[in-house]
This record gives sequence, C-alpha cells and structure tokens, in this order.
Amino acid sequence: MAEVRIEHVFKRFGAVTAVNDFDLVVKDGEFVSILGPSGCGKTTTLRMIAGFERATEGEIYIGDHCVSSSIKGSFAPPEKRDIGMVFQSYAVWPHMTVAENVGYPLKIQKVDKKEREERVQKMLELVHLGEYSKRYPHQLSGGQQQRVALARALVAQPGLLLLDEPLSNLDAKLRESMRFEILAIQKELGITVVYVTHDQGEAMAMSDRVVVMSAGVVQQIGAPHEIYTKPANKMVADFIGLVNFIDGEVKGDRVFIKGSNVSFPNTAKVTGEATIAVRPENITMSLSGGQMEGQVTHRFYLGDAVDYRVNVHGHDIRVIVKGADIDAIPDGSKVYLDFDRVMVFDRN
Ligand code: ATP
Repeated sequence: MAEVRIEHVFKRFGAVTAVNDFDLVVKDGEFVSILGPSGCGKTTTLRMIAGFERATEGEIYIGDHCVSSSIKGSFAPPEKRDIGMVFQSYAVWPHMTVAENVGYPLKIQKVDKKEREERVQKMLELVHLGEYSKRYPHQLSGGQQQRVALARALVAQPGLLLLDEPLSNLDAKLRESMRFEILAIQKELGITVVYVTHDQGEAMAMSDRVVVMSAGVVQQIGAPHEIYTKPANKMVADFIGLVNFIDGEVKGDRVFIKGSNVSFPNTAKVTGEATIAVRPENITMSLSGGQMEGQVTHRFYLGDAVDYRVNVHGHDIRVIVKGADIDAIPDGSKVYLDFDRVMVFDRN
C-alpha cells in the first residue's frame, strides 16, 4: 500500500512548461483521477510519478520512499518504484501467451515456477480470464487484452497502480463495464490508483477525488460532487458537465444578466466583469410565468429529454427538460425560465 506525495513539481520541455507547480497527496488506498483536455499535462504528470520522466523541479514520494528530488538530485527508475502501470495501447506481448504475459514481472523477480503459476492464475481469475491462460493476445478481444495488461500490472502486488487512459481504445459499452471491473479490483486489493483521463464521465464515476488540470496548472482538486456543484472557476465549470455562461453586470451585492433586470446574489464577490453560470438541468421552463421571459428558437429531441435553445434578452440559453413531451412547447413559444443553483464567476 502506498501514499503518493507530489510537492511543487514542475516539468519544462524547453520553453514549454508542461506541468506547473503540481501539488497533490494521494492517500493510501485512494482512487484519484487527473482530468483535463488534450495537452494539459496529465500524461507528463503520470510519467513523472512512474519514473519515465524526470521532474525539472520538486519532490515525489511513494510511501516513505523519495523517488525523485530536484534538491537532492536523486531519481529512482520505474522498476525501483513499486508500481504497476497500464497504458492506452494494450502493450501485451504478442508472442507470449496470456499466462506468460502476466507472469513476466514475477519471472524478472525470479519467483519460482510453482508460486508464479499460482499467482498468475489467481490474478487471471480476478480479471475474469481464468480460462484464457493458454491463448495468445491475437485470440482475445480488445477488452480482454486490456484485462491481461491490468493483471500483469498487478501480479507483483505493487502499492500503486498508474493508469493512463486504459479504456479509450474500447467501445462505449465495454468502457462502461470495465469501469466497474477496475473499481471492483481496486477495492478488493485496496490498492492506491492514479488514473489519467480526458473523459469527465469516467473520472466522475470512478474517483474518490478528481484533479482538474488545464495548461499545466491544477485548477481544482475535489470529490466529484464538489467539482460539479462548486467548480472553482469557469474552466472547471465548462469542462465538467454542461453549463450556460451569461455575461453579468455587478451592481452592489447582486449580479444582473446583462441588459435585463433579472439578478442573482454576487456569491463570488466579483468586483469587475462577472459571468453568470447555470447548468441546463437547473433551469425550469414554463408557459405560464417565472423569473424571466424568453422565446424558444430551437429544440432537439434526445429521446429521454428535449434540449431547447431559448433567447433571453439576446442571450442564447440551453435548457434540458427530462421526460418532456416533444410537442408540449413548440418552436417560437414564449416561455418563462427560472434559474436554480446559479454560479457566479469572475469573467476573466
Ligand atoms: P493528451 O490527453 O493529448 O495525451 P496530456 O494532457 O496528457 O495530453 P501531455 O502529454 O502531458 O498532455 O503534454 C503536456 C504538454 O507538454 C503538451 O504541450 C505537449 O506538447 C508537451 N510535451 C509532452 N512531452 C513532450 C516532450 N517529450 N517534448 C516536448 N514537449 C512535450
């Protein structure tokens, strides 16, 4: 078991700062995701934890072991870090059977044959591949190959499992079922996990805590519910879930929708330019009356909901009505909207 401590870590590639002052403690047994758009620095962060990349500045601890320190100039290679790792590409060896793939880390450690076979079989059963030990990777589906990679990463019983987009080569249905499998295995083994993904649904569903990154900088660290309901800034609100952003004008202790007399408490105490944010599911729409008047300009039928665009004082607002009757509110209708759980941000 291992706690991971990352202290003031920077990674520079020439003029590019890929990771900028990263600070995080992952508790023993915790599942933490690093989430962000392409190029935000999440893979580089994971590679520094793994030891495939050396931090330009800062310290990294795995358990009590300082594995990387710019002050001491020390650096432990990946094989000295007690980690297992799974990447996006399956990276199982095509010329080895499933059992040989999974047993390889134990062979390197010179674990004797009998013990090796027992541990491999136990691990294959954990990932539901007990019957597949003699097959070769080309005789397996993508999901099965990824489970072989997972079993190989776990067979040496590392304290820390690092996963880099391990599900992104799988189709949508399989991706969802693998989420549950990975979580079940993590709980069973009680292992610490750091999981890199650009998929917010995956991060939200699986993690104890999520680290949201953008342009090399940590934007927020929190439980999924906290990140969704109390995003630290516009970037986080925009990246997690759907949100309407509306220009606001600060007057006293309230923020007005620009060009209207509709206002909300200035909860963020913004002094300059403000942005009002509200999630589509937190807007109630009716034909009879409410906070503000608008007009339906488009509607999109989604099966379980109808996705409306409503013009309010020149602002285009998205409203999602669950279980709605597609014909209830036609295009062009005059409607009334009520906003709930309004967020206020500094616009800049
Ligand atoms: P993706 O989801 O696309 O994999 P990411 O969030 O994992 O993106 P990184 O791969 O960590 O992002 O890259 C962060 C930044 O560092 C990017 O601007 C990238 O171009 C740059 N970068 C990464 N590796 C190198 C390298 N070896 N040399 C130069 N620049 C690099």
